[in-house]
Amino acid sequence: MEVAKNLTFMFHPLETNDEKEPKKIQEIIQNIPERNTVSVLAKVIAVKQESVQEVRKVLLKKKEITIADETSMISLTLWDTLVDDPNISLNAVIFFRNISTRLFSNVKSLTTTKDTTYELTENQTAFQGVDENTYITESKTATVEGEVVNILIKKTNHCLSCNRKMLETETKSQFIKCAGCNMKFKVSAMDTTLTSTFQIKTNENTIKLNAYNATLMHFLISVQKEHLKNDPDELENFLLLLPRVKVEYAKGENVVSKISVLT
Ligand SMILES: [Zn+2]
Repeated sequence: MEVAKNLTFMFHPLETNDEKEPKKIQEIIQNIPERNTVSVLAKVIAVKQESVQEVRKVLLKKKEITIADETSMISLTLWDTLVDDPNISLNAVIFFRNISTRLFSNVKSLTTTKDTTYELTENQTAFQGVDENTYITESKTATVEGEVVNILIKKTNHCLSCNRKMLETETKSQFIKCAGCNMKFKVSAMDTTLTSTFQIKTNENTIKLNAYNATLMHFLISVQKEHLKNDPDELENFLLLLPRVKVEYAKGENVVSKISVLT
């Protein structure tokens, strides 16, 4: 069943668009710039409440849905008559044509346009495992508890003026002249950044994680050891001596978002 959103399209077969192969959602997210027209074959995995937005002095109904295929999921904003269309419902597998890509705050999304058409697809089998949990679980953070068994903390110093990374040998004296911007400043006032790689041994296994400056600084403040930021060697010892820590990290990237001490 082909449903044309705009009446005029009922009388103009969409020959060129019919030939357009649907794009995989991951490809749209990664490779298609904003304000491009695409086709997509996907399953509706979430439907939000409708709302009203003023567009060029006209009030238009809109509704956000989330669609997914086997590669990823993306938000699609429905406009106007498509908002009330009962065919676009949870779990429906739909071939959308002429939808447009958007980019806001570095997040890709899709929106229907006046040229958007769609077709319901009976072929559900390919989408059986695709639901709201498929991708949400992936992006979740994981928590591990255990002992820090090895660690490497690196401290880098940056120029306060141009942010150029300073060599360790440049930071031995009281003042330093930046080779990048020629500014001279106090070594004690230099910006320092910590990065770390460590392994946590849990009851089941050992996991390798990375923690960056903001997380490490937050941790040092929480244990009232802020002075250790200037002494990576002592900070390494401090963490190795802790009997047990709890670490939250982003799955996949293994980047730590929070470290806390367990007693
Ligand atoms: Zn500089």
